[in-house]
Amino acid sequence: METITHNLVAVVIQIICFTFLIFPWNLIFTILFAFLSHVFVDAIAVITYHTPDVQKGDKFWLIWHYFIYAISLFSIVIFIIPYWLSMLFANIMDLWDWFTLRPIQKKIRNKNPESKWGDKYYFHRIVDWVRDKLFFWLPKRIYKRSGVLIEILLICVLSLILIFLEVSIFII
Ligand SMILES: [Zn+2]
Repeated sequence: METITHNLVAVVIQIICFTFLIFPWNLIFTILFAFLSHVFVDAIAVITYHTPDVQKGDKFWLIWHYFIYAISLFSIVIFIIPYWLSMLFANIMDLWDWFTLRPIQKKIRNKNPESKWGDKYYFHRIVDWVRDKLFFWLPKRIYKRSGVLIEILLICVLSLILIFLEVSIFII
């Protein structure tokens, strides 16, 4: 799924862990649950618009990505203090797979197109495994444009949960 969705899940996890657990368990479980959340959130991402490759010349694809990158960036700016820890671990799989491993692999394949180096180091192999085992029954909608509505709905629901948590913790 998109970075903002991972970020909102991460913020909810950190709020819950820091409200109900004491040090050091709040830190340990924030890191653990944030890291694992990426697997489950990505595993169900098949129900959202999520084309594996860039759709050159497709205006809808372009506008959606401008929009989702903008609000993802916005979510990083407003939540980084104090939720940087959970956001970091909720996105670490993407940071490693798409921003570290894939560029290295590209460089190696430029020299040697046959190279299989790095294939087994992708975190998203775990995501694929979990999806095949637990979420195989979900409808595949990655090329369906209406899938953006599901992602937007998820973002709204997570934002409401977050507001609810903030308000109820404030009252306590
Ligand atoms: Zn991912």
